[in-house]
Amino acid sequence: MSLLAEDTAAADLGLRWKPGFRALGPAFLTELRPTPLPDPPYWVGHSEAAARMLGLPADWRQSEGTLAALTGNLPVAGTQPFATVYSGHQFGVWAGQLGDGRAIMLGETEGGLEVQLKGAGRTPYSRGADGRAVLRSSIREFLCSEAMHGLGIPTTRALCITGSDARVYREMPETAAVVTRVAPSFIRFGHFEHFSANQRETELRALADYVIDRYYPACRTTDRFNGNAYAAFLEAVSERTAALLAQWQAVGFCHGVMNTDNMSILGLTIDYGPFQFLDGFDPRHICNHSDTSGRYAFNQQPNVAYWNLFCLAQALLPLIGDQEIAIAALESYKTVFPREFEGRMRAKLGLAEAAEGDRALIEAVLKLLAAEKVDYTIFWRRLSQHMDGGNAEPVRDLFLDRAGFDAWLLSFSQRHAQLPRAQAADLMLKSNPKYVLRNHLGQQTIEAASQKDFSAVATLLALLETPFEEHPGADAYAGFPPDWASTIEISCSS
Ligand code: AMP
Ligand code: MG
Repeated sequence: MSLLAEDTAAADLGLRWKPGFRALGPAFLTELRPTPLPDPPYWVGHSEAAARMLGLPADWRQSEGTLAALTGNLPVAGTQPFATVYSGHQFGVWAGQLGDGRAIMLGETEGGLEVQLKGAGRTPYSRGADGRAVLRSSIREFLCSEAMHGLGIPTTRALCITGSDARVYREMPETAAVVTRVAPSFIRFGHFEHFSANQRETELRALADYVIDRYYPACRTTDRFNGNAYAAFLEAVSERTAALLAQWQAVGFCHGVMNTDNMSILGLTIDYGPFQFLDGFDPRHICNHSDTSGRYAFNQQPNVAYWNLFCLAQALLPLIGDQEIAIAALESYKTVFPREFEGRMRAKLGLAEAAEGDRALIEAVLKLLAAEKVDYTIFWRRLSQHMDGGNAEPVRDLFLDRAGFDAWLLSFSQRHAQLPRAQAADLMLKSNPKYVLRNHLGQQTIEAASQKDFSAVATLLALLETPFEEHPGADAYAGFPPDWASTIEISCSS
């Protein structure tokens, strides 16, 4: 092959691309190509659901060059890849410029989805790091993206993981992987903070206008805040974030690194690092081994999200033009979060309609669960099965304080006394997942994959895609965590 032919060779994924974010211009991004991995790539996992969402052809993985292209080893026809610049607050402290240090954006499809290769090599924003992602953390990100979607929680998606035997050094040598991530937008609070902190109001405005026009067009025509579109935008982001946090708290999801550069402007769960689904219900649980102060403990998440929104408000202040209006635009978080959280918890209790006393019922059960660190997912699923006709013993068996549980169960039963039981059971079975991506399940999958057994990725994915279904024969994936699960340490190292 001549040099020229090699240079022009590209894989055609069968997608059509449009400029999207790239049209914002060089102040926002650097055009570059992924860096090929030195060892040949192989498939580790893929999501057909994500492929369908993207509009990929049925045989997408078979077509020439796709594996290489999604590893960053071959260009994708029709794309001009780039990395974007952002800044952010990390662990409560201004961290200055960050940016896509290892995620390279291929572009945006005609269907309005951005496609990124995470771990595809260094960028001008890598800050001395290697631009790579290891297999271990890539499996966690891939599975959790699709798991969150399966749970009905807004998230960036993952099309596939490709792996390679190329060495990547963390605490010890590991192997490289690339996750193809998909989302309507990967823009973070930190993108706004970046231009605001650098007093680049022209770019700040261009970015806000782009995001409003693309994703929040209703802000242009609203009467809220005397037609101040930027304030309406901030309010809309606050509300989406509040709704997202309500879902995290209700399902028992701990993100682990809620820095402002990991906060999606669309209210999506983004950047899966040391996340964890709670095993035993411990409101103060810290899932990130690097988070020594517990800033991102499970019960801190709603407040941290508000703190992060405050940073976004500060960043947007030059556009909003009035501090009081900016503060007012954040106010709705304080009503939307509790309303959404209560709604989600009510659904977990099988209650379609609100009634007085529901909040007390919710608070009481959470207190009982916390007192004995009862397994959160198993409790709710067993309670659902009890509503579905099973006896109460399997739920009761989860508690040492039987009297305390019985008293709560009585008030729960009284609340349901006049309500159709079948409907309540149905709502509960659709609101309380049987399968969540517990740390030990991820760990077992990672260990199998490290031995080149990738079937475990597909097996777990199939359960997590439809986590409310029973999946007969898969009970081992829905059981209590083994003792060693509590010794798993997940840090920011990824
Ligand atoms: P995170 O904690 O994963 O959200 O990452 C924070 C920042 O560090 C982001 O700007 C990432 O792009 C960057 N980063 C993390 N790991 C790497 C890596 N291995 N190579 C380059 N940049 C990285
Ligand atoms: Mg990040």
